[in-house]
Amino acid sequence: MLTELKQIVSGSCLLNEPMSRHTTYGIGGPADAYVIPKDTDDLRTVLSYARRMNIPTVFLGSGSNILVSDLGIRGIVISLKKEFSELVFDKNHVSVGAGVMLGKLVKEAAKHRLTGCENLIGIPGTVGGAIFMNAGAYGQEISVHLTSLDIMNENGSVNTFSSESIKFEYRHTSLSPESIILRAEFQFPAGDIETIQKNMKETGLKRKSSQPLNFRSSGSVFKNPDDVAAGYLIDKAGLKGTRSGNALISEKHANFFVNTGNANAKDIINLIHIARTSVKNKFDIDLELEITLLGFNSEIISA
Ligand SMILES: Cc1cc2nc3c(=O)[nH]c(=O)nc-3n(C[C@H](O)[C@H](O)[C@H](O)COP(=O)(O)OP(=O)(O)OC[C@H]3O[C@@H](n4cnc5c(N)ncnc54)[C@H](O)[C@@H]3O)c2cc1C
Repeated sequence: MLTELKQIVSGSCLLNEPMSRHTTYGIGGPADAYVIPKDTDDLRTVLSYARRMNIPTVFLGSGSNILVSDLGIRGIVISLKKEFSELVFDKNHVSVGAGVMLGKLVKEAAKHRLTGCENLIGIPGTVGGAIFMNAGAYGQEISVHLTSLDIMNENGSVNTFSSESIKFEYRHTSLSPESIILRAEFQFPAGDIETIQKNMKETGLKRKSSQPLNFRSSGSVFKNPDDVAAGYLIDKAGLKGTRSGNALISEKHANFFVNTGNANAKDIINLIHIARTSVKNKFDIDLELEITLLGFNSEIISA
């Protein structure tokens, strides 16, 4: 059935594609189809095909905040990375496609002497994924200088929304999973180039010293509860170094569960259950996932 999709898509369309190739974890079974549409019309074609054939769709950026099940994803995975790559500066105003890597936006903004996003350097992923997650680090969040978003809905129509009309919270937005971000506009304040460069350098050093960047991961597994770091709670529960198969709760940062080589999703899920149960028993705190689980049945997700 999906072979027809391959014929009608102008961009790339891979059938039965292992998601381990498209996640920073390097974990995940095959998606029925993995599509990178070439442009807005191509994306519309994919969505209309999926609707006509009653096939579910899932949107991805570069898969840096995702854990995909070992059984993969039934349906069409659509990623905007590599395409949707517009990046235009006009004084303080920036228009950027959702497929642009966040690091590129940050570096280009610095070159244009604009401040407000330099501390986001080192967060992997696309601008679309960062906005959907309201990514942030070291006191900055992507939504702060965002002014508007172009969003396509499941019927293929595109609307522009002001950032005030969308609720941005810690690692969460009010956007529905059916909304696909195509383009964003930002208005960054002018800054001092030396301070911007210093901030970027310091951020890079902080990341290197506190995060296990030599292993594949999805960054922080859990959101930080109100006034305490999830990593602190997992550490104090005595879980650093806990293993399940080839997955490990990092000794360097207890909220990073890393793939030490050929780990599978089941290993990470085991560690998630261990951490949640131990932290609940010791501190009576419920840890909420920051990463998105794809392709799992709802019992695993809520268990
Ligand atoms: C080493 C490491 C360090 C990290 N450090 C940080 C950090 O400091 N701060 C932080 O906030 N995060 C961090 N992360 C997590 C992750 O990089 C961010 O959440 C990132 O913004 C996700 O972008 P992505 O393109 O990879 O999105 P994905 O992981 O592909 O997707 C994330 C979510 O966004 C949705 N999405 C993606 N693109 C679109 C789109 N165009 N339209 C609509 N929905 C979309 C997906 O459906 C999914 O729900 C880290 C990850 C790693 C591996």
